Amino acid sequence: MTKRVAIGIDLGGTNCRGALVSQNGQVRAWRRIETDPAAGLTVFLQRLTGFCRELRSTAAELGLNIAGVGCGAAGIVDLSGQVRSAPNLHLLDDFDLQGHLQRGLNLPALVINDANAIAWGEARYGGGQGFDSFLTLTLGTGVGGGLILKRRLWQGACGGAGEIGHLAVEAEGRPCGCGSHGCLEQYASGQGIQQNFQELGGAERGETVDSIGIASLARQGDPVARTAFDLAGRYLGQGIAGVVNLLNLEGVLFAGGLSGCLDLLQPALEQELARRAFAVNRQQLQLAAARLGEQAGILGAASLLFDRLGRR
Ligand code: ADP
Ligand code: MG
Ligand code: ZN
Repeated sequence: MTKRVAIGIDLGGTNCRGALVSQNGQVRAWRRIETDPAAGLTVFLQRLTGFCRELRSTAAELGLNIAGVGCGAAGIVDLSGQVRSAPNLHLLDDFDLQGHLQRGLNLPALVINDANAIAWGEARYGGGQGFDSFLTLTLGTGVGGGLILKRRLWQGACGGAGEIGHLAVEAEGRPCGCGSHGCLEQYASGQGIQQNFQELGGAERGETVDSIGIASLARQGDPVARTAFDLAGRYLGQGIAGVVNLLNLEGVLFAGGLSGCLDLLQPALEQELARRAFAVNRQQLQLAAARLGEQAGILGAASLLFDRLGRR
């Protein structure tokens, strides 16, 4: 392993993951903590910087030099690394996370959208290596998206591209953290599936069953749990059909905590895709689970940081 590493961070609505990543994508000292936004911004930022400092101490113990910190964060992140809006982590709305990390750690920092970091990680080291153009869908606290077009990350005019989770799939549907309503993520994220289940009468009044519990019920054959996943799959198929008709991609990779539930989502998803996508576009498209699991975002963010440092 080379002596030069980046701190790679994947900051989601539920989980914060981090590791030391070398320039050729080797991962050391991987760890995870809960994101826990409930205590407010100051405590949240202290925890995050503390998490980075722990990784820095580990690097020192291992005799590794830190080049900087690359962080994928859940939210719309502009090209200067400011979080402009974070539907699942509102305390970061309009917060300059890149500047904060840079000053707090006295290291070069790069912050981009979490799903974009995951897509880039998969493109470079994982399941996206065989595709020129693909979408990575992250199914976690929310639904995120990262677009790789012709092997380049497409961030859009100001960093806000790829947000498939905020495609409207129900004209007057559930209110969304982004301010709109009927967005895909309200039906197909961990929280969305939980709400599907509740609305279908799957939970007792006042009881909450999370998507992990609903998945295990579905696998035991519980019909309401299965329908909660079918509903998510159908909306995902609807969203993906629109995207592949627009972009004629080669692949869609599924990442995030719920990607292990692809078996539960896929039948309804495929059915909807067949109904809505152009046959020629559908035939070209491969659907697959992402390959790097919980490390994808860390690898992608670190790689983008190294790229930026290299260009200076
Ligand atoms: P984030 O990146 O937004 O923090 P993750 O990708 O870590 O989120 O996924 C967390 C979400 O995924 C939670 O809503 C959790 O309930 C759900 N989840 C995680 N693992 C599973 C699983 N094996 N089956 C079903 N849902 C899961
Ligand atoms: Mg995530
Ligand atoms: Zn939305």
